[in-house]
Amino acid sequence: MSYAHTEAENTAMLMNIFRNSADKSRMFAVDRTADVTECIFELGEQKNVTDIHFEPEKNGAVRLRFRTDGVLHDFPAMMPASLWDKVLQRIKVAAKMDTAQRRRPEDGHIIRRLKGGKVKDCRVASIPTRNGEKIVLRIFAGADRLFNIDELDFYGDNAAIFRSLVNRPSGLTIITGPMNSGKTTSIYAALNELNVPDISIATVEDPVEITLDGVTQCEVTDRMSFADGLRGLLRMDCDTLLIGEIRDEETAQIAVRAALTGHRIFTSLHAGDCLGALLRLADLGVKWSNIAAVLSGVVAQRLVRRLCGYCREQRADGFFVAKGCQHCHQTGYSGRLPIHEIFVPDFAVRSMINACAGQVDMLRDVLTKNFVPLAADGTAKAKAGLTTVEELRRTLGEEFYGRA
Ligand SMILES: [Zn+2]
Repeated sequence: MSYAHTEAENTAMLMNIFRNSADKSRMFAVDRTADVTECIFELGEQKNVTDIHFEPEKNGAVRLRFRTDGVLHDFPAMMPASLWDKVLQRIKVAAKMDTAQRRRPEDGHIIRRLKGGKVKDCRVASIPTRNGEKIVLRIFAGADRLFNIDELDFYGDNAAIFRSLVNRPSGLTIITGPMNSGKTTSIYAALNELNVPDISIATVEDPVEITLDGVTQCEVTDRMSFADGLRGLLRMDCDTLLIGEIRDEETAQIAVRAALTGHRIFTSLHAGDCLGALLRLADLGVKWSNIAAVLSGVVAQRLVRRLCGYCREQRADGFFVAKGCQHCHQTGYSGRLPIHEIFVPDFAVRSMINACAGQVDMLRDVLTKNFVPLAADGTAKAKAGLTTVEELRRTLGEEFYGRA
């Protein structure tokens, strides 16, 4: 893609404008506001950011931060308050937000048409803070293309295990992890594998992130909850169903009943790992005997930053360190990489889950004997030079990394 300016030019230009407009003796022309806003957007695209934060500080100057590969980075200069006033108005107008409303959180959308015809959907959210209005731009970071299972960076036997899990004819498969851990990409890869004419697939999602030809996709609205959508679809002769997320008891109960009656159900749950996902399901009122009966498997995952292949260096202990070069914007990392743990219980293990009846220690014991945990999968990938130990610790936290 071609831009009017290079990344270095955009950075220099912004720093220059920030500095000059802080100088009250110099008049700041209104029409430059458009340049500044465009420059920030363009810089964001060049840096491959997912979010841009504008945060007013005590003196009114605005801290500008960009999120790349899941981590925030400061822009090296502050935007002066006088300039922020104009840029803020401009962003709010573009996002069709109420420019007069400065006392309540607001949200809006900016659709950006890039050179080359690509369209970017940008969500804008504002909130009044003690230091003035803060804005966050989320450059829609949903999975923007369909992957197949072999592209998901599974390590060791995990690709084969995941594939066998996806192809089980009935039962409940759960993909778990925190926000932005790549769950959607994995679920869509599973549906992509199953999307053949002799299987009827339907989804209830909030929102639909990728369009899948040949799949009935429904979106949750004020009038249709996950439970409503699911009930509706179950009357429509579907073999395979994706429930975007199970977050209430009603949806959990219908999903389990559907899995018990021979449907293949995929869903995501917010939990830290495979054990957490099962406990969450129990929290949502599903009996342990039913969990044991319907569970096909659980995939827990995270996204870690991928080491830049141009500048990584190997340490004496065999692991690698991030250095930084022009290819990776001096961060040492470029793109992201999932790490996984996949639990696929056989009949004997399922009866053990039932026998544990929610005793966490016993359950943990049963589970960990039956998969490679997240931290171990991550460590294998760090040994292979794909990421660093520091990155695993940052992403997993001591709770999960400490057990490695
Ligand atoms: Zn590099």
